[in-house]
Amino acid sequence: MTSIPSPELIQKYDRPGPRYTSYPTAPEWTDALGPEQFARHLARADAVKGPLSIYVHLPFCREMCRFCGCNVVATHDRTRADAYLDVLEKEVALVARHLPNRRTFTQLHWGGGTPTFLDEKQLARCHEIITRHFEFAKDGEKAIEIDPAITRRSQIDALAEMGFNRISMGVQDFDPRVQETVGRIQGEKETADLVQAARDNGFKGVNLDLIYGLPFQTRETWKRTLERILAIHPDRMAVFGFAYVPWVKPHQRLLPEAALPRTSERVALFFDAVETFTRSGYRLIGLDHFALETDEMARAQDEGVLTRNFQGYTVRPADDTIAFGMSSISDLGGAYAQNAHRLKDWGDKVEAGILPVVKGASVNDDDVMRRHVINRVMCLLRLDLREVAAKFGPKARAEIEASMKPGLPELVSDGLVTFDGDVLRVTPVGQLLVRNVAMMFDAYLPRHAQDKKQTFSRTV
Ligand code: SF4
Repeated sequence: MTSIPSPELIQKYDRPGPRYTSYPTAPEWTDALGPEQFARHLARADAVKGPLSIYVHLPFCREMCRFCGCNVVATHDRTRADAYLDVLEKEVALVARHLPNRRTFTQLHWGGGTPTFLDEKQLARCHEIITRHFEFAKDGEKAIEIDPAITRRSQIDALAEMGFNRISMGVQDFDPRVQETVGRIQGEKETADLVQAARDNGFKGVNLDLIYGLPFQTRETWKRTLERILAIHPDRMAVFGFAYVPWVKPHQRLLPEAALPRTSERVALFFDAVETFTRSGYRLIGLDHFALETDEMARAQDEGVLTRNFQGYTVRPADDTIAFGMSSISDLGGAYAQNAHRLKDWGDKVEAGILPVVKGASVNDDDVMRRHVINRVMCLLRLDLREVAAKFGPKARAEIEASMKPGLPELVSDGLVTFDGDVLRVTPVGQLLVRNVAMMFDAYLPRHAQDKKQTFSRTV
C-alpha cells in the first residue's frame, strides 16, 4: 500500500523530470532523423517478423480545454476531418510501401484530439484506410479515446462493429466549478451512459481518465468526484497530475494560476484517489494507473510484462509501433520518429510524397538497456540487477551499478528505495516519487541540470 511522503520529502524531490514514456526522452530528439533515416528504420522493421502496433492521431476537438497538453486542432467544422482523412489515406499508403513484408497488427490505438469528433462514416473510413493495408490479428486490441461530451451512442455501436474493444474516456473532474474554469463541461450521466453503451457492445475494457491539480480542486470536491467515478465502476483509471507548462502550452495561461492547488494539496488529492480506489478493489499500477485486481493490467504487473509507451502503461509490449497523423510518434526499427507537428506541414509533406517525419532519435545499445531498466522501475517498481546481467551482459550490470552509485545512498536514507546488492525495490513511500528513482538511470539527464529553460514538468 502506497504511503504519503512527508512534506519535507515532497519538497526535496519535487523537481522537473521526465515521465519516461520514451527513452531517450523527447528533448533528446533532433532533426537529424528525417524522412531518409526513417525510411532506413522502416526497412529494418520490415525485416523483422511479428505483428505491429498502430497509432493514429486524430487531432480535432470542438473546443480547446484550457488544461490540455495534447496537439489539437479546435474547430466546429466536421468537414475538416474529411480533408484530414484524405491526407491520412496517402500517408498510410506511403508508409505501407516501405513495409511490404510486415502487414499484421495486434494493437490499434486512436488518440487525439478527440477521435469521436469524426462521425460514424468518417470513423469507418479511417478504419478502412488502415485495414486496406494492414491485417488485424484476431486476438488483438483496438482502443480509442473519446470525449463523452460529444460522443453519441451510435458512434460506440459503429466502433464495436469495427472490432474496437477498449475505450478510454476523459473525465478529469465532475465538479462544476472546476469544469467551468478549465473549459470542459461534461455531465456525469452522459459519461455513465456511454460506459454502459460500451459494455452493451461487448467492450472488454473501459478506462476513465482523471486529473488532479486543476484550479479550484479541493479535497472535498475531489472526493465527491472519486465516489461518482466508483459508482461508474470502470475497469481501469488513470489519475494524472496536471502538468502546468504554460511555456510550452501558452493557452494554459487562461487558467487562474492562483487557484492551482499547492504541491502539498496536489499530493493530498492524489492520495485521496489512492485511498478511495484501493479500498474498492483497484490496484495502483506504477505512477498513476489503477486497475481492478481482475483486469489484465494487474495480471501483467504480476507476470512482469507490464510496460510503458506514449499512451502510458500497456499490457501488450509491441516490438514496433507505427504512427500516422500529424505529430504522431513511431517507435520502430530502432528509432523514435515524430511527424510534423503542424497540420499544414504534415499535409504538405505527404502530398509531396515525402515521409512526414521531422525529428526523432536512433536508439543505441546503451539506450535499449537503460530503457529496459527504466521501464522495470516505472512499471514493476523493482529492478533485479541479475536480470540486467542475464539480458545485457555483466558490463551492463556494472554500468547500471555505476549510475546508481551517486544517488542511491540518499534515496535509501530517505526511504524511497531499498537495495540488497542485487534487487532495487521502490518502497510505498517512493512510489509517488518513482520518476525521481528512474532519473538515476537516465544518461542524458545531467546535461539538463545546466539548462536554464524548463524542459520537463515537475515530478510531484
Ligand atoms: S477534449 Fe481532450 S484533446 Fe481535446 S482539447 Fe480537451 S483535453 Fe485536449
